[in-house]
Amino acid sequence: MPIATVNPADGTTVKTFDPLSADEVEQRLADAEAAFRGYRTTTFEERARLLNAAADLLEREADGVARVMTTEMGKPLAAARAEAAKCVKAMRWYARNAEELLAPEYPAPEDVADSGAERAEVRYRPLGPVLAVMPWNFPLWQVVRFAAPALMAGNVGLLKHASNVPQTALYLGDLFHRAGFAPGCFQTLLVSSGAVEAVLRDPRVVAATLTGSEGAGRAVASVAGDEIKKTVLELGGSDPFVVMPSADVEAAARTAVTARVQNNGQSCIAAKRFLVHTDVFDAFAERFTAGMLGLTVGDPMEPGTDVGPLSGAQGREDLEELVTDALAQGAQALCGGRRPQGLERGFYYEPTVLTGVTAQMRIHREEAFGPVATLYRVADAEEAVTLANDTPFGLSSNVWTRDECEADRFVQDLEAGGVFFNGMTASHPALPFGGVKRSGYGRELAGHGIREFCNATTVWRG
Ligand code: NDP
Repeated sequence: MPIATVNPADGTTVKTFDPLSADEVEQRLADAEAAFRGYRTTTFEERARLLNAAADLLEREADGVARVMTTEMGKPLAAARAEAAKCVKAMRWYARNAEELLAPEYPAPEDVADSGAERAEVRYRPLGPVLAVMPWNFPLWQVVRFAAPALMAGNVGLLKHASNVPQTALYLGDLFHRAGFAPGCFQTLLVSSGAVEAVLRDPRVVAATLTGSEGAGRAVASVAGDEIKKTVLELGGSDPFVVMPSADVEAAARTAVTARVQNNGQSCIAAKRFLVHTDVFDAFAERFTAGMLGLTVGDPMEPGTDVGPLSGAQGREDLEELVTDALAQGAQALCGGRRPQGLERGFYYEPTVLTGVTAQMRIHREEAFGPVATLYRVADAEEAVTLANDTPFGLSSNVWTRDECEADRFVQDLEAGGVFFNGMTASHPALPFGGVKRSGYGRELAGHGIREFCNATTVWRG
């Protein structure tokens, strides 16, 4: 894949970049190792000062970087601005809370007395240079939610960003540098995915985090496993959105539209499968379909646009194949199911609702990375849980119910890293984020995220 900015709204190549040479990669690895030697002993106060400086810069530059993101991957400009603001918030949150999240832990003396310890403690120490392999769908946020905790923990970062967002990638490296982090603390590696293995095998790189497809996750985790290096994987999702009879159906349908088409439908935590109780199915289906039909598809730079193009030609083809397969096997499109007219130059796809989906159809098992929803009728909570779990993925889930007992049952039974009631899944700096099954392992954000790349060191004093 060439490293290039291709505007998905019209298919034009805006700018191409040469990948780093082997010597340039070597220099960055050396810089990362050197930077870590000094940075690992900085105080939380110093790290927070630097991270807050980066947050201040990003806040001031949010509009410019939002335009770059929209040009590179097509999200509506307002969403790109919101993404930048969320990054600012997360940076400040970690700057404020990291010291407490990584405070030494002291087991009760009576609990460790039989170990012979006079005193014992657990210290969270940094690991070293961590490689972050990141996707294009939230090109700032995916990186910041790794970088903010990693830098506050005393680690240094090497970013291999997706090849279609090179300008955002370069902006990020520059941002941390201008904020005052020492050279080498956070660097962008403009390389293709083929260069990742050598970087990961380099002894100076101690761990890796990847957000992206299952294939990319498997490739990186295999190499890391071979090298006995820690990984965190955040892969795809096909989150269920369950609507039970006690729900506010109007609100559920409204939220369902946003949950499905956020980021032009290209979000791992977008609700993708809508499992609706038969008592409220018709009312929900009517409102949901009307909502999807009412969306404005078009130029993501225009203020009135709800849904922009998909990020690339391949992404749209992959999505079309899933829809074509489902329709050929008897699914029905309540709306959409084709490219919109009048927008032929970009990679657009109409918001689509499919019913009559069966287990034989690819879309039942695979992630639909675009504005395509599948709508299922369920008889009761039991069937909703069974269907919700009938997927290789387990990232998050959404359930609409006002019945507390029923809610507890969903928490107990859903195979997912999150259960969001009467709302839609969203990540938040103070809440752990990640999945089970083929959605990956490990957690980002909150205390769980910052501790993933720490050496939890037992200190025993006799
Ligand atoms: P990829 O998973 O291919 O890309 C994500 C990142 O991984 C990019 O930086 C990419 O680099 C890199 N990468 C890809 N293959 C390898 C490899 N073998 N070794 C090392 N690094 C690798 O995502 P795509 O853009 O191809 O999207 C395909 C599908 O992945 C989507 O349709 C969706 O289902 C899923 N996806 C999920 C995301 C999520 O948020 N969970 C985000 C993006 C995609 P490069 O760009 O240079 O190839």
